[in-house]
Amino acid sequence: MLVVGTGTDVGKTWVSAALLRRLAAAGHPVAARKPAQSYDPGDPPAGTDAAVLATATGDVPEAVCPPTRWYPVAMAPPMAADVLGRPSFTVADLAAELRWPIPVPAVGLVETAGGVRSPQAADGDAVALGALLRPDLVVLVADAGLGTINEVRLAAGALSALAGGTGGAGGVGGAGGAGGPPAQLVVVLNRFDPADDLHRRNRDWLADRDGLPVLVTPGDEDALSRRVLGPPPPDLQCPPGGDAVDQGERGQEGDGGSHWGEVVTTATATPQPGDLVVSGGLGIAQGPLVGAGDSTPLEEDEPEGVVPPSPLWAMKMRRHVQWHLLPAHERHDRIRDAVGTGDDTVYVIDDGRHHVMFGRRVGAVPGEVEYALVGRAGHDRYDALVAGSLAPRRAFDDATNLVLCGVAAEEDIVASNLFEVANYGSAADIPAEYLPGAPYIEFADDLDATAD
Ligand SMILES: [Mg+2]
Repeated sequence: MLVVGTGTDVGKTWVSAALLRRLAAAGHPVAARKPAQSYDPGDPPAGTDAAVLATATGDVPEAVCPPTRWYPVAMAPPMAADVLGRPSFTVADLAAELRWPIPVPAVGLVETAGGVRSPQAADGDAVALGALLRPDLVVLVADAGLGTINEVRLAAGALSALAGGTGGAGGVGGAGGAGGPPAQLVVVLNRFDPADDLHRRNRDWLADRDGLPVLVTPGDEDALSRRVLGPPPPDLQCPPGGDAVDQGERGQEGDGGSHWGEVVTTATATPQPGDLVVSGGLGIAQGPLVGAGDSTPLEEDEPEGVVPPSPLWAMKMRRHVQWHLLPAHERHDRIRDAVGTGDDTVYVIDDGRHHVMFGRRVGAVPGEVEYALVGRAGHDRYDALVAGSLAPRRAFDDATNLVLCGVAAEEDIVASNLFEVANYGSAADIPAEYLPGAPYIEFADDLDATAD
């Protein structure tokens, strides 16, 4: 989660520390990071943001903010660096320096400096930094009194490129990085006095007229905790059929195995499809590629254009290894291939070092849905296909996880547009007219889904 403020001294650190203490006391592992901090050199060391957040989380201040990013001048960090004659730095530098403890805590909080448009580095403000960090949740801390409606509106507008979702179904705008839903935004009116008529009216105005989720402190600490812990976003929940796992014997209780969509470290567990893989070298988990609430196949970053959208989307959804989530040193070769021509064409993408996904365009209800047959096969089957020793017609013979997927082709789809029509236990169960070599089918009606 990212904590931003409508301005400086609105209480970002105070709200953050109180929240983290509360979560930690309830048994949730937490950590806080301050990418850069500047402060009056006359302030007591225990009063810096890094020290306060460290005390709240049982960490040391040097872990919360790297000592190279401590700037004892009361100006925005990049300006303080200038004054001190220290090197200029970028928001990308700050993002790259961010390190979470291992194991990764349930809640990782990043507190920015100043307000949403305050410089965090030479080239960017808190919105720019947030776009690199891609938080799930953005907490906007504001004052409760006179002027706060204007400040919250300005800040929320500035954040609209980064956050804006107010419910489980995503929100306006898109995350600055590629893929991933926009973060949810929560406004916290700090120093709230329930006896103050203006405070109450400010809260109600922002909630009722602007539709913003508004919490207050003191008062709504429980609600804020629940919001932070919240249900997992839709893209981290198990997709249909996403529990199919056949690589390695896993899933024993208590063996360190993970469920779909968990944050795992490569040191402790074998990543599962959809997992967020975190390593000490990577620091920040990248967003999941599949199942993002607001992405469609045509938005995928696929510069090659080798594989058409529907089989590509189906293969990506069904594959087990999310290549882009692996640490760099564990990445295998990326495959995007089309073997054969015409009705024989079999599309191929990588799925780990030893497997590939095969895909085929079966047919379509024109303008509505295209059907793709996909399955998982050994890398040797792909090699044989390329070498010509395996006929395209037989490509799916030894494949597993065979499924006929429908990919909805309508415009304006904002959620997942892929569904499973049928699962096949073996290639022998696949209708012959769906296999490579058979002509592309123009279906008159949607196929009935029989997949469970
Ligand atoms: Mg602060």
